[in-house]
Amino acid sequence: MTHSHLEVFLKRATRWSSVLLAVSTAGVVAVAGPADAAPAKYTHSQAKALLDKAGIRVSSSGNCSNVNNPRCTSLQGINRTTVSGLIRFKRISKCSNITVTGGTERGVHAKGPYGHEAGYKIDISRTPCVTGFVNKNFKRAGQRKDGTRLFRSMNKNVYADERSRNHWDILYYNGSA
Ligand SMILES: [Zn+2]
Repeated sequence: MTHSHLEVFLKRATRWSSVLLAVSTAGVVAVAGPADAAPAKYTHSQAKALLDKAGIRVSSSGNCSNVNNPRCTSLQGINRTTVSGLIRFKRISKCSNITVTGGTERGVHAKGPYGHEAGYKIDISRTPCVTGFVNKNFKRAGQRKDGTRLFRSMNKNVYADERSRNHWDILYYNGSA
């Protein structure tokens, strides 16, 4: 190898290794990215302000928002995507009266990685408008053991008709309706 050939070889080798480095870095980022990231959260007052602005009421049988009191309705630690999912649902359903009756409060809801306490779920009153919209526009997705009927939205979120408790229990995997 002449001196100039060596120079060319080294330049190519350097270029290749930086290409390989870029590829492997991109690969690592893609694998360890959004799937492993903890969901972004709101405090109760942040979530409440956004719902207020969207015309969505929050109701609590105990008239309180303490996350540790099962009689309260709390939005403390709710996923941002759950809040935006519900706001988008109000927009597409055009239901004017949407009332939140359950959020992240401890001690009342079934536990689980995608449950209320984890910030993924929200309950809303079972009004004829909401029930009519879900039945008409979302796909049936089987039922729970207790007979609760499940519906899947076009964005893969799950709406459960908890008829006996007079509310819809909604699981938002993402911030769409
Ligand atoms: Zn629920």
